[in-house]
Amino acid sequence: MVDLHTHTTASDGSLAPRELIREAARRGVRVLAITDHDSTDGLTEALDEAARHPPMRLVPGIEINCDVEGGEIHILGYLLDYEIQWFQEFCRAQRAERAVRVRRIAARLAELGMPIDAKEVFDLVKEGSAGRPHIAQVMVSRGYVKSVREAFDRYLHAGGPAHVPRKKLVPADAVAVVRKAQGVPVLAHPGLARKDELIPGLVQAGLMGIECYYQEHSAGQTAAYLQMCKDLALVATGGSDFHGPHIGRTNAMGTPHVPLAVYDALLAKAREARGGA
Ligand code: AMP
Ligand code: ZN
Ligand code: FE
Ligand code: FE
Repeated sequence: MVDLHTHTTASDGSLAPRELIREAARRGVRVLAITDHDSTDGLTEALDEAARHPPMRLVPGIEINCDVEGGEIHILGYLLDYEIQWFQEFCRAQRAERAVRVRRIAARLAELGMPIDAKEVFDLVKEGSAGRPHIAQVMVSRGYVKSVREAFDRYLHAGGPAHVPRKKLVPADAVAVVRKAQGVPVLAHPGLARKDELIPGLVQAGLMGIECYYQEHSAGQTAAYLQMCKDLALVATGGSDFHGPHIGRTNAMGTPHVPLAVYDALLAKAREARGGA
């Protein structure tokens, strides 16, 4: 099995990197990418654990979320030189902005009559990358909503009453950052983003792939994005967006099925990204 989109406690996943790798091994996942939001901090521990489960391959990755007019675009980055200093500084700045955003969303929630303590959110986040799912969990524990999903559906979705958009980074910049780090930038779950009109511009900016296989894509959407990849010479990737239990999204690891050939195609793109052929 191949799964190129998962999250750990380094961002808003509920399994620690080591636990995630063990779960992947149990489920028979052979190629796994960890794509935490604005963080690669889970990778050291995950690589160590993955080495204990041959023939598992761990693909280093990242997910960078950007807000655009009327929605959001998530850019995945694979096989990048994540240890270089400027890239880690970029991630740190992104996480600092996320912490500021938590406080701004908390202020918005207070105005809506649902005060939360930002400290409660940061207690959940620990050393990780703060995101709306952490806020949603605090909203559940306060009894404002029954589930993380309800918190998103009613308040936290893009354009929702408690949503505070990020401004700094546009998707083309996220693509450029991944390319600069010698990685392969891929548009995440375009069926959720519903911003296909932005794809040509992103390709211009250096986008190299589209996440075609995704649980919430219809068969028609998957087919359409696969065709788009063929037409534009992009790599078609896929993954579960697994976040572990109790965190809103409920996709199981290893779903939907992603062909093993996707991994070879990704490796080929990575060579291309590094200037090879
Ligand atoms: P943020 O990092 O603050 O942009 O939050 C993005 C994360 O929120 C995504 O990676 C998902 O884990 C989660 N998310 C987004 N929309 C929903 C939703 N409708 N239900 C549950 N979780 C969601
Ligand atoms: Zn997430
Ligand atoms: Fe995403
Ligand atoms: Fe994700």
